[in-house]
Amino acid sequence: MKKIFCILIITAFTSACSTTPISGKQAFLLTSSETENQQGEEAYRDILAKEKVVTGTREAKMVEAIGKRIAAIANQPDFKWEFKTLQSDTPNAFCLPGGKVAVYTGIFKYAKNEAGLATVMGHEIGHAIARHGGQRMTQAMATNVALAGLAAVGLAKMDPDKKGLVMAALGVGATIGIILPFSRANETEADEIGLTLMSRAGYDPQEAVNFWDRFSQAGGKSPPAFLSTHPPSPQRKEHLQSLLPKALTEYQSSPKLGIGQEF
Ligand SMILES: [Zn+2]
Repeated sequence: MKKIFCILIITAFTSACSTTPISGKQAFLLTSSETENQQGEEAYRDILAKEKVVTGTREAKMVEAIGKRIAAIANQPDFKWEFKTLQSDTPNAFCLPGGKVAVYTGIFKYAKNEAGLATVMGHEIGHAIARHGGQRMTQAMATNVALAGLAAVGLAKMDPDKKGLVMAALGVGATIGIILPFSRANETEADEIGLTLMSRAGYDPQEAVNFWDRFSQAGGKSPPAFLSTHPPSPQRKEHLQSLLPKALTEYQSSPKLGIGQEF
């Protein structure tokens, strides 16, 4: 118990409030970005080893090109960006801390074009830039002392249940069977960052609203995990529309690629 307390106190002293770029929001974190990025890297390797990674296709090349354009304007020097395409009918995507992005082939039919996919990738990258994984770990640690020590431990050294929890907190829940949606506030912030990123990267931000309209059709009897954690609600649409004027200004001084190529 004493040891855990010491870890908590030490961690509290070495961490602080951090200001999120673009949204300007304050976040209190008990985790360090170094550890988050390290754990993100490990979780990514774990997932890539289990999933079918698609390489060399037109779509996989487009995912990489979109990712690189966003990375070029995202100003995240500590990220070691990677953009992988994974074979799966489930429409899903994630970005782990440190810039480890995965896009599932099932989302292409809703993305429809590059700007549509930039909406999804920008949103997921937004979660990573805002360190929502670290925020979730911080909340878990604050309410469960057994998790306190995990802030500085590699995934390989954790027992499977704790490892699952950390991976879910970092944002790959659906992939490993644990669905843990980000909070509404986190979602709103990721939408704002994502819209700014796609606009600066050169994609028409109007397409973000169109994407969520298309994606709302993906419902049906058993909505896919990404849809259940990302409801295309009227509030989401209204929020995006309220951000559009500013995003369009960003877009005007970008390379202006429009909606890009169709998938
Ligand atoms: Zn999200």
